[in-house]
Amino acid sequence: MDERAFFTEKPESRVAKYQCPKCRRTNEYSVRWVRRAKKDRPPAGAGDEDRAKFAKLRDYLLRLEDEVTCKTCGKKFEIPSQHSLMFVDQLAGLPNDDELEREISAASGEEEPAPPAKPALPARFTRKSSGWK
Ligand SMILES: [Zn+2]
Repeated sequence: MDERAFFTEKPESRVAKYQCPKCRRTNEYSVRWVRRAKKDRPPAGAGDEDRAKFAKLRDYLLRLEDEVTCKTCGKKFEIPSQHSLMFVDQLAGLPNDDELEREISAASGEEEPAPPAKPALPARFTRKSSGWK
């Protein structure tokens, strides 16, 4: 099943600043993208494989243009961005699953008490306190 069957497509213009490699001027350009928003449910007639595929999909933006015409010198140049595909959740500045997991593990690492202190704690109370401040 074609991936497009899982999405609703909507054209979108996004303004971005690009520097012309010829005249070095930076201007704002309106670039055409298409936003593919995942449908609420897999399309009718989707098999198990299609459903599994659907579950993994995310909303994304696909850039339709590869080049813009410089507003200063009128020369065409290639959009100097590597990304012609952007996931909408990245766009919103929300962490993706991997980053989120790293954040969670980092946070839990910070909250974790110094490992030797915990098992030593009961011993401290039973031991004489002379050598311990
Ligand atoms: Zn230029």
